[in-house]
Amino acid sequence: MTKNCTCGFEGSPKHNDFYDCVEYYEEKNGKTKGQWMIDWAKKSKKSEAKRKPSGFSAWIDNAEKKVK
Ligand SMILES: [Zn+2]
Repeated sequence: MTKNCTCGFEGSPKHNDFYDCVEYYEEKNGKTKGQWMIDWAKKSKKSEAKRKPSGFSAWIDNAEKKVK
């Protein structure tokens, strides 16, 4: 398990970053790979009207803080 892997996957190929874990989780749950990004885009469109400063990078920042 690499230090960047949060899901505990120990197979191959190894997870090198947060996205590998997310996609692995999606595959395990029968979701489409990359669905999280599509979901995020949908949420982003909904909140666009509010013009929040917190965009994709803020979302990733939060996610990476959780990893550490
Ligand atoms: Zn992982």
